[in-house]
Parts: sequence; C-alpha cells; structure tokens
Amino acid sequence: MYDQITQNVRRLLGEIPPYVTVVAAAKTRTPDEIRAAIDGGVSIIGENYVQEAARTKIELGNSDRLGAEATLHYIGHLQLNKVKKAVEIFDVIETVDTKRLADELNAQAKRINKVLPVLIEINIAGEPQKAGVMPDQLPELALYLDSLPNLRLQGLMTMGPRLEESGLRKYFAETKRLLGSIGQLGLPNSDLLYLSMGMSNSYRIAIEEGANLIRLGTAIFGERA
Ligand SMILES: *Cc1c(COP(=O)(O)O)cnc(C)c1O
Repeated sequence: MYDQITQNVRRLLGEIPPYVTVVAAAKTRTPDEIRAAIDGGVSIIGENYVQEAARTKIELGNSDRLGAEATLHYIGHLQLNKVKKAVEIFDVIETVDTKRLADELNAQAKRINKVLPVLIEINIAGEPQKAGVMPDQLPELALYLDSLPNLRLQGLMTMGPRLEESGLRKYFAETKRLLGSIGQLGLPNSDLLYLSMGMSNSYRIAIEEGANLIRLGTAIFGERA
C-alpha cells in the first residue's frame, strides 16, 4: 500500500509539467502514508486540520525531516481560535478570505517574528455558504493583505464549484484572469507567484488553465476509507 502511494506520486510527477508543484492533500491520512508520498517526491503537504497537522509533524519522526523534505500548507477553513497554532506550524496558509482572518494571522505572525506567505481563497463561482472571498471583493482584500507587514501575499487558491471536469474550465480561467487583475494593482509587498487550483478529478484542466499548484488527495493516496 505504501509502495502504491510512492508509485502514484512518481507517475503524477512524470505526467505534469516541471513548473507545476503537487500539494499532497493529506487529510485523514496516516504519517506512514504521508511519508510514502514524500518518498515519491512530494515536497508540499496540505492539511485541513490544525490538530492533525501538529500530530503529523511530530509523528514524522522529527519536525526536521518534514522541514527539510517537505513544507506544510494549510488548505482548510481556518477558524480564528486556531490561528495561533496554525501560524506556528504552517509554512503557507492558502485560504485567507477575510480581513478579520488576515488581521489575526498578521498579529500572530508578528508575535513570533515570522513573515507568513499566504494565498487568498476565492469563491470563484460566487456560491453562497462557501468559503472564499467573492470575486468583487478580491481587489480590496488583496490591497489589505499587501499592507500587513507580517503577511506576504503570493497568489490565489480556489476550490471551484462541484462540477464535472469540463464545467470547471471557465472558473479556472476566470481565477487566472483575476490573478492577473490583482497583479495590475501593483502591490509593492506581494509576489503573485502561485495559482492553486485543481484536485484529483480536475488537475489536468486546471494546469491547462494556468495552475502551478495542484492539490491532490485521492490520486495519491487512493479513496478514503
Ligand atoms: C481534500 C482536498 C483536496 C484534494 O481532493 P481530492 O479530490 O482527493 O484530490 C484538495 N483541496 C482541498 C482544499 C481539500 O480539502
């Protein structure tokens, strides 16, 4: 089973262009499964739960191994009361979607003297009840993040609506366009390097539409138990 995970990663890495980086979406997976993905060549682990990530970091032997071979991205919905811990554990937070969350991240990063890379999560289809900033509020949030000294805006992340692969294409294209449009704001403290979009069932189309971070769970680890 661990061999299978390692092989899945090798195959995926062989299949995608070299400028695309895989984030192994590791929710509910064991440290041994995550280790198998790292052995295959994954360099970023994506976690949805702060507590689980803290445990993974410890159980992977020592946090040095993870620090040396893989970095940790937070890809879940971050609650304000988990921010302190999240800022200590994660290398990148991909899911900033409110000024309130940005303020709290900035304050906690400042406390430990860290400049924390973040992505804005965008609710690209404007679906009610879904996480992510609405497209019309994106410029304002981007400007705000650019003004916070302990955060560094590095791009956009989207889940996209639950659609078949072909229906997603226009949302991925629109996310790419919006990344360009915030680039036009000329934000002095931001590096808009990353477009995190595409999961196991949609990464090919996401890459065609400009993704350079893809978040893969099932394609690496198999179906969840
Ligand atoms: C679980 C998850 C993924 C990966 O989903 P798969 O369909 O298993 O590839 C990607 N992004 C986020 C935010 C997730 O929670």
